[in-house]
Amino acid sequence: MQFTRLRLNGFKSFVDPTDLIIHRGLTGVVGPNGCGKSNLLEALRWVMGEHRASAMRGSGMEDVIFAGTDSRSARHFAEVTLQVDNSDRLAPASFNDSDTLEIVRRITRDAGSAYRINGKDVRARDVQMLFADASTGAHSPALVRQGQISELISAKPKARRRILEEAAGISGLYARRHDAELRLRATETNLERLSDVIEQLA
Ligand code: ATP
Repeated sequence: MQFTRLRLNGFKSFVDPTDLIIHRGLTGVVGPNGCGKSNLLEALRWVMGEHRASAMRGSGMEDVIFAGTDSRSARHFAEVTLQVDNSDRLAPASFNDSDTLEIVRRITRDAGSAYRINGKDVRARDVQMLFADASTGAHSPALVRQGQISELISAKPKARRRILEEAAGISGLYARRHDAELRLRATETNLERLSDVIEQLA
């Protein structure tokens, strides 16, 4: 899945709308300490559905909204847009009618996050599954945080396995299996209730 454009607006230090074109091949981001390189990577994770504030180096999800400086007031919302090349039509059927996918996540103070794919309101889960099936996403091993390599070396086998599964693109299948198991359990409970009712009527 080829990312083609990343747009930030009010996200962390990127207070003004900022557009980054991502070309094919290797992209390097260079700059002095504190200029926002890690914020860019976090914007990518965030738009793909990251829900842990700790992964965004914050204590709450609203910490991603520009917090203000001496000269500029804080923003009320943050928005990140990721454009993805879908010319190979790998997206799920419901979003598979165009060559480009535009995924938008917006967080508004006191109102939480909202997601859109190609202008259509969707759930966080739809966005997470879209990227999980493409072997990428907020937890993709392709996105390497500072300090993550040493964590990986000392990780327990179970944690390493999770990383391999994410890379193999099967984490979406696990999520779907979990959903199916929950539905199955709910149906079994309904059936039990139904047989109780039938017994009472008999
Ligand atoms: P280094 O090279 O040291 O790792 P970096 O280029 O990766 O630095 P980041 O860590 O991405 O830099 O950016 C840190 C900057 O982002 C800090 O100046 C911090 O004040 C700013 N920042 C983080 N969150 C917010 C926010 N919510 N509002 C405004 N600025 C923020």
